[in-house]
Amino acid sequence: MAIFVPEEKIFEIKNTADIVEVVSETVLLKKTGKNYLGLCPFHSEKTPSFTVNSEKQIFYCFGCGAGGNVFSFVMKQENLSFPEAAHMLARRYGIEVPTQTMSPQQKKSIGERDSLFEINKQAVAFFCNVLSNSTAGEKARVYLKKRGMAEDIVNGFNLGYAPVGWDNLVNFFSKKRIPEVLVEKSGLIVARNKNHTQRKNGFYDRFRDRIIFPVFDVSMRVIGFGGRVLDDSLPKYLNSPETPLYNKSRSVYGLHKAKQKCRETNTVYIVEGYFDLLSLFQHGISNAVATLGTSLTVEHVRLLKGYAGRFVLVYDSDEAGIKAAQRSIDIFMKEGVDVRIIVLPEGYDPDSYLLEFGSGSFEKAAGNALGVMPFLMKSAVKKHGFSIEGKINIMSDLKAPLAAISDSVARSLYIKKAAELIDIDETAVLEKIRNVSAEKKVAGKKRVSNFNVSPIHGKTMPLNRGNGKVHPANWSRLEKQIIAMMLQFPKILYEISNRNILEYFENDTLKSIGGSILKYKSGTGRQVSDLVSFVQDKEQRRIIASLAIGEDCWDNDGCMKLIEQFVYSRNRNKNSLLQKIKAAEESHDNELLLKLLTEKQIQAGKKR
Ligand SMILES: [Zn+2]
Repeated sequence: MAIFVPEEKIFEIKNTADIVEVVSETVLLKKTGKNYLGLCPFHSEKTPSFTVNSEKQIFYCFGCGAGGNVFSFVMKQENLSFPEAAHMLARRYGIEVPTQTMSPQQKKSIGERDSLFEINKQAVAFFCNVLSNSTAGEKARVYLKKRGMAEDIVNGFNLGYAPVGWDNLVNFFSKKRIPEVLVEKSGLIVARNKNHTQRKNGFYDRFRDRIIFPVFDVSMRVIGFGGRVLDDSLPKYLNSPETPLYNKSRSVYGLHKAKQKCRETNTVYIVEGYFDLLSLFQHGISNAVATLGTSLTVEHVRLLKGYAGRFVLVYDSDEAGIKAAQRSIDIFMKEGVDVRIIVLPEGYDPDSYLLEFGSGSFEKAAGNALGVMPFLMKSAVKKHGFSIEGKINIMSDLKAPLAAISDSVARSLYIKKAAELIDIDETAVLEKIRNVSAEKKVAGKKRVSNFNVSPIHGKTMPLNRGNGKVHPANWSRLEKQIIAMMLQFPKILYEISNRNILEYFENDTLKSIGGSILKYKSGTGRQVSDLVSFVQDKEQRRIIASLAIGEDCWDNDGCMKLIEQFVYSRNRNKNSLLQKIKAAEESHDNELLLKLLTEKQIQAGKKR
């Protein structure tokens, strides 16, 4: 356990934080039986196998094997160390944690994140104030009005204005005595290059004469900024650089406002620009987000999957839609989200479209929108036509997206459709696709084999598939069952310890886990989560979560039977070993005898 978060504080955080609540922030959970189920945020899946147990305060994914308690979840999700995760949870639940016992490095890392959040917050206040209360902000106010932005949208999204000039923000923070090097880490100011021909050393404002869009995370904290010019100068948009808080391939704009409605409607609209998003909100479509100048990444998709199962991508030209669809089709297919694409009529953007046709018509268009593959097919036909040349081009456009479909049923259905579309033989389409796959393989893009564990929820699943650590013998399975029983039916612990059942264990990891369970048994309802905190080894924590989360129905009789079966099989194994030794002695097979005796010695050693 990390030394610098006091033990009693960890206890307090653990007892206050609720894993279902914390996980629900980012994963859409549904209650099934005793557990909650959702799509795993840590691997690609279409059928939920990510399981959270409220009573035991643990999670486990039957797909990728991620598991642990609320601390493990936050650490994995936010990429934090244990103390950072503890601090984050403490803050969330209003628990004060003293900092004096931290090492300077740890204090710095935690202190820095907090400071950067604070700097961003103050910068938002600065930009908002300039926009609404200063003469410098007049031109920005006029601009926003011209674009038809309503006041409640401007205020609701905390829009601001970075005035003309190189050091407005530099001076603002300098007056507050916040070190420039720290502000620089927020990306808001930039160090001057000494070799450059600029007049002086020091720092200058990154955002100048731009409308400012603060980017919030789902916990309503400001992680970064976007800025748009008021005229046609370039770059039109400027975003914060990557900072300890801001990662554009993991962040989307507007989710803090959209998350509720996304969950209610199970639908999220994804637009390209800040103003597109604000227009949607202004027209009452508040389940929308914008990507921040990047195409959709797998991280975006996983993040958004926690809020909606249906994605509607909104583009203002065929070309943009096709590009995005081609780029992201394998992400969509792999992540198993229902993706639709709307292309607005030529000459319209979301704002002008909504103004002219209203939100009802927009939502109706969304309802009729095509999926990714049908969209690409239709677009290819539209673009190339049905001449022989055209058909060849259609096939050339479609082969890569078809090859990217990982689901074999979906792929063969679309191949059939494509063949029908251009009226050629299916095998010809298949041939094209095989070439694409072969090229991909040559390029070294080998796919990591994902073990498709069928989600048998509520059943204890075999562990460690394929990593070679599992003992093939039958009693290893029995050992796992016994550990699962100890975790799920603590009444049996007395029997286990009284009869020294763990002494029969072959698998050292399971034996060690069993030892920890006996040592750490406690009467609280959250004992499994406590145990996870107590166990140091990451692999052991995963195993504990996986075995504890099952919903086997244990009763005293069943448990006793399992114990008897285990003891019997171990004794039988021992006996058969003795018999083998006897036979080897009789046949004077010294080599075999030596081997068997060594085996016996090892067993005896284990029993001691
Ligand atoms: Zn998983």
